[in-house]
Amino acid sequence: MESTRLPVAIIGAGPVGLASAAHLLARGLTPLILEAGPEAGASIEEWAHVKMFSPWQFNVDKEAAKLLLADGWTPPPENEYPTGRELLDRFVRPLADLEQIKRHLQLDSRVLAVTRVGQDVMKTQGRSTAPFLLRVAGPSGERDVLASAVIDASGTYRTPNWMGAHGIPALGEIEHAAHIAYGIPQVLGRARNRYANKRVLVVGGGHSAFNTLQDLVRLTREAPQTKVFWVIRGNSLERILGGGANDQLEERGKLGLKIRQLLNDGVIELFKNVAIDQVVGDGEGLAVKAGEQLLPPVDEIIVATGFRPDMSLLAELRIALDPATQSAVQLAPMIDPNEHSCGTVRPHGAIELAHPEQGLFVVGMKSYGRAPTFLLMTGYEQVRSVVAALAGDWDAAKRVDLVLPETGVCNSDFDEADDRSKASASQASCCGAGGAIPEVVPRSSPGCCKP
Ligand SMILES: Cc1cc2nc3c(=O)[nH]c(=O)nc-3n(C[C@H](O)[C@H](O)[C@H](O)COP(=O)(O)OP(=O)(O)OC[C@H]3O[C@@H](n4cnc5c(N)ncnc54)[C@H](O)[C@@H]3O)c2cc1C
Repeated sequence: MESTRLPVAIIGAGPVGLASAAHLLARGLTPLILEAGPEAGASIEEWAHVKMFSPWQFNVDKEAAKLLLADGWTPPPENEYPTGRELLDRFVRPLADLEQIKRHLQLDSRVLAVTRVGQDVMKTQGRSTAPFLLRVAGPSGERDVLASAVIDASGTYRTPNWMGAHGIPALGEIEHAAHIAYGIPQVLGRARNRYANKRVLVVGGGHSAFNTLQDLVRLTREAPQTKVFWVIRGNSLERILGGGANDQLEERGKLGLKIRQLLNDGVIELFKNVAIDQVVGDGEGLAVKAGEQLLPPVDEIIVATGFRPDMSLLAELRIALDPATQSAVQLAPMIDPNEHSCGTVRPHGAIELAHPEQGLFVVGMKSYGRAPTFLLMTGYEQVRSVVAALAGDWDAAKRVDLVLPETGVCNSDFDEADDRSKASASQASCCGAGGAIPEVVPRSSPGCCKP
C-alpha cells in the first residue's frame, strides 16, 4: 500500500481544520476532513452568541481567503469584531461549502481512534511507512479510513475542565450535574428559562467567565430576581482583569474593564481565593465548599474553568506531551502559564508541533493542551507550516511570517520565560533540515534535535 497516495486526514472541520484543507489543496495534496458534528464549525455553534475579542483581520486564514475570493466571497470588514455566529456564517460555512472543500468533507463522522495499519504503539519496524488508520463512527456504524498523515484539529470545547480545584471533579460535582453547566451557555437565548430569576454562580477567571457574567447581568434587567455570584481561585483581580487599555486585542481589554465596572456597581457578588473541593445540595439549593468555607446556596452553577484536550483518540500513536501543558514538548515553554501569563506567543509551526510519530500533528486550539491563550491566527500559521512540512518544503515550514499582538496581561516572570522561548526557538531552528520530521527533544535538553 503506497502511503503517499492516500489523503491527509484532518480531524475536525473547525476554522483551523478547514484552513488546513485549504493549505493542502494549495500544495496539490488531498485532504479528507472528518467532522463529528452535522455541520462544519459544530463547536463554535455552542458559543455562537459570544462576541470575539479578535477582529476579522485576525480570524481569517489567508489561503482559505484566496479560495473564497475566487468564488466571489466578500471579505468581512477587517476591523470589526464578529460573534461566533458571524464567524460561522461569513467564513467557516462558506469555506466548508466551497466545492473544492465539500467533496473532501465527511460530516457526522466522529474519529474514535487513530493508529497505523498493522502497528500497535509498541511496534517500531515498518512504522514510519505504514499508513495511518482512523476508526470513524457515523450514522451507519463504524468504518476505518486510511491516510498518509493526520492533522488533529478537533479542538477542546467538548472536554471542559471541572469546577474542582484539584483537577478532578469536586466531591458532589457529578452527582449534581443536572444543575451544573460548562462553557458559555446561552443565558440570553435558549438557556434563558434555566437562569432567569435564579441564583447563579459562575466559576472561573477567564474570558468565558466574563462573557457569562456580562450576559447574566443583562438578564437581571429583564428578570430582576436573578442573582449573580462569581468565584475565582486566586486573590488578585488585577491579574485576572489585566490588559485593559493595554491589551492590543481591544475587545478583550474592554471586557475586563466592563467586569470591573459591574463589580463596582455591586451587581456581581465576588468570592476570591476559593479553591472548590465540594458541592453540597440541600433544600436551599447547591452550595460550594472550599475547606471549611461554605458559600451561599444557588440554583445553578456555570463552570468556566477552561478546557482540556482529549488525547485518548491518539493513544495508539507515539506522542510526546509536556507533562504540565499537555501540548507538544517544544511548544510548552512558549505557552506555559506557570512561566508567563502573556497571551503573546511566538508564532510557531511544524518543528514545535512535531511528535515522535512522524506525520502526526495536533494543531489549533487542541495544540495548546491545557494552556489557555490560543488565538486563531496562531493556528493558521501552524497549519501553513505543518502543511509545508508535509509537502517536504522545509524552508517554508521553518519560516515565520506572523506578528502577534501584545495582550498586556503579562506578569513579572515573563522576561525570563521569553528568553527560554527564544532559546527553544534557536534550538528548533537547527532541527528538521532535509525534509524529515525531527525527533522531539525534551525541554531540558541542552543539545539540538537528533539527526
Ligand atoms: C467562547 C470562545 C471565544 C473565543 N474567541 C476567540 C477570539 O476572539 N479570537 C481567537 O483568536 N480565538 C478565540 N477563541 C479560541 C479559538 O480560536 C476557538 O476556540 C476556535 O474555534 C478554535 O478553532 P479549532 O479549529 O482549533 O477548533 P474548534 O473550532 O473547536 O473545532 C474543532 C472541530 O472538531 C470537531 N471534532 C471534535 N472532536 C472530533 C472527533 N473526535 N472527530 C471528528 N471531529 C471532531 C468539532 O465538532 C469541531 O467542529 C475562542 C474560544 C472560545 C471557546
